[in-house]
Amino acid sequence: MNLDDPVEKLPGAGGALYAKKFHQLGIKTIRNLLWHFPHRYEDFSDVVFIRDVELNKNLTIRGTIQKISNIRAYRKKINITECFVEDETGSIKAVWFNQPFLLNTLKPGRIVNLSGKLSLREKEYYLSNPAYEIIGREGKEGKFETNHTGRLVPMYPETRGLTSRRLRYLIRKILFLAEKISEYLPEKIRNNQRLLPLADAIRHIHFPRSRETAEKAKKRLAFDELFLMQLLFLRAKMKRKQERANAIPLALEVMQEFVKSLPFSLTQAQKRAAWQIIQDIAKPRPMNRLLEGDVGSGKTVVAAMACLSAAANGFQTAFLAPTEILAQQHYEKISRLLKPFNANVALLTGSVSTSRAKKILAQVNAGTIQILIGTHSLLQERVTFNKLALAVIDEQHRFGVEQRASLLKEGTPHFLSMTATPIPRTLALALYGDLDISVLDEMPKGRQKIVTKIVSPAKREAAYQFIRKQIKSGRQTFVICPRIESNTLISLPRDLAKPNKTFQQRLLTAEVKTVKEEYKKLSEQIFPDLKVGMLHGKLKPKEKERVMKQFNAGIVDILVSTSVVEVGVDVPNASVMMIEGAELFGLAQLHQFRGRVGRADHQSYCLLFTDSSDKAAHKRLQALSACEDGFALAEKDLALRGPGDFYGSRQWGLPDFVMASLADLPLIQAARTEAADLLREDPRLNSCPLLKEKLSAFKEKIHFE
Ligand code: ADP
Ligand code: MG
Repeated sequence: MNLDDPVEKLPGAGGALYAKKFHQLGIKTIRNLLWHFPHRYEDFSDVVFIRDVELNKNLTIRGTIQKISNIRAYRKKINITECFVEDETGSIKAVWFNQPFLLNTLKPGRIVNLSGKLSLREKEYYLSNPAYEIIGREGKEGKFETNHTGRLVPMYPETRGLTSRRLRYLIRKILFLAEKISEYLPEKIRNNQRLLPLADAIRHIHFPRSRETAEKAKKRLAFDELFLMQLLFLRAKMKRKQERANAIPLALEVMQEFVKSLPFSLTQAQKRAAWQIIQDIAKPRPMNRLLEGDVGSGKTVVAAMACLSAAANGFQTAFLAPTEILAQQHYEKISRLLKPFNANVALLTGSVSTSRAKKILAQVNAGTIQILIGTHSLLQERVTFNKLALAVIDEQHRFGVEQRASLLKEGTPHFLSMTATPIPRTLALALYGDLDISVLDEMPKGRQKIVTKIVSPAKREAAYQFIRKQIKSGRQTFVICPRIESNTLISLPRDLAKPNKTFQQRLLTAEVKTVKEEYKKLSEQIFPDLKVGMLHGKLKPKEKERVMKQFNAGIVDILVSTSVVEVGVDVPNASVMMIEGAELFGLAQLHQFRGRVGRADHQSYCLLFTDSSDKAAHKRLQALSACEDGFALAEKDLALRGPGDFYGSRQWGLPDFVMASLADLPLIQAARTEAADLLREDPRLNSCPLLKEKLSAFKEKIHFE
């Protein structure tokens, strides 16, 4: 058997049925199976005598089966298997549900390990659904390592019909092949970082002897992924230094005029970021920079300066937004800001008529439009620029390689990505190590504090009256709901969903407020005299736009919406952000919602509605009401929910424990330093061919957003 054999070759894993299940888990070869790591361990390492068992603790007992039988119960719908096991100190009952076939394996006289928790019902103690493992027959107890009991037991990502138990059995069989895995990490780095050899790490990650060995294995494997990532980042950076881009010379006078034309003075942070950007694009190599700044920190003005700099030098800019609404708003803002400077700005979205679009495209091609604003998808597809030098990309953390390629037809433009999602320092280093980052960590002066309150069900009426008063005094209100309609699912913050099943059930059984129902309720019952509008992702673009326009113009008083308002919607007259089911959103996202209000002089409010009694949820909401710094909240979110949930879902195809290590700053820094040192000595990695090979495989596997 070889590492690169198909997994079906493995005895016990054959058949087309299994093949399909393996493929569902992304496992094609024996090597893949060896690399299918547990996401956690069940600790059954506490082996006790039967007389010493304790309630509600994970434990393992070893004994001889005395008798075992199947019983039909509850109108014969459930099969209960009852088994009695004894050791030299006593006897204990174990029960399993709906596994009648256990009788074929667990025969009287055999010696078994049973692992699980002790339960108590009607004064009877028993092990409920314990894991089991035959140890030997009638005294012929062999010495071998257990897989499912009496140890730290690996729990794997599973799929229906391919359980952790099965995976353990199969992986145990191929574990000896770990010997054949070649070590690709240079010895010097392994020594520096005190890392286990790769083969040992693989063995210990599956069947660790202790927590400590499991941790060591994790560290080695996490280091590898972080190290490979950093190698990719640093190499991308090195490569970029050799690429050519249009240098956009610093147009100092125009910049000064621009700053003078503003109705406010720039914050220090804006000045610093603008300066970094303008200097960067003045070089003949492509910039790749992320402009990070909390909602309302004034990113648009900074981006506008870069656009103006390009235009003043006769270059074109592509300005990409994630939604039509945002493209529209950017168009309005940028046009307004650049009005005194004769820059030709155009908007290209799905709702622009075909004839108009044609005209715009021709003008872009001829170079008479300097700044073209549109949605991500649209601009990449069909535009040919005349002299593109800059691409500004809003609310996309990382611009995909293919997307990038489509803009590269005319040579490499400078890339400026903007995001209002504050990225914690560790994640920035771990996941954005190829980007330069500018941060707007300072709010424009005079921004008022948004009053943030948690609203319990008892206070709902009062809150509605408060909203009515706000609207009577001329303001507007957002209402955010977690779902569009009751049959759509939402993904949960995992720190909530896991420990609290009833909560999850409540969610799935539709107590969650939906946009459609709330819209109906608010417009018909609560505020029949006011104008209520509805916005969600399933509306046609035209309809969305119509609603947004009405809200913008103040015709709609209350906008009931899904999280589509999360990014960038700018209606300064709105003073109340009301969020239904607030506990269902992450901190960073709630902070984004809150940023939709308080954009003018009116005192503004964020009302967090929740009827959850979940403690973790309340802690999170309290953190939000106590803190207004997006970066601090992001760090908190990361700490509370872990990197895997920080972005809502698993986006990078990394194992869980690697995701967890994305919060491990020292390990990330170590990986970066080692990568940099290695590349300095050997930029092409010629001295480590195995590493080079591994790196190209890694590049294929990992998919950055
Ligand atoms: P965001 O970073 O969320 O994209 P915007 O660029 O939309 O923020 O700016 C939010 C609002 O603040 C806009 O109305 C903008 O004109 C205004 N603004 C930007 N910079 C300043 C500043 N230095 N002083 C006062 N107001 C500013
Ligand atoms: Mg913005």
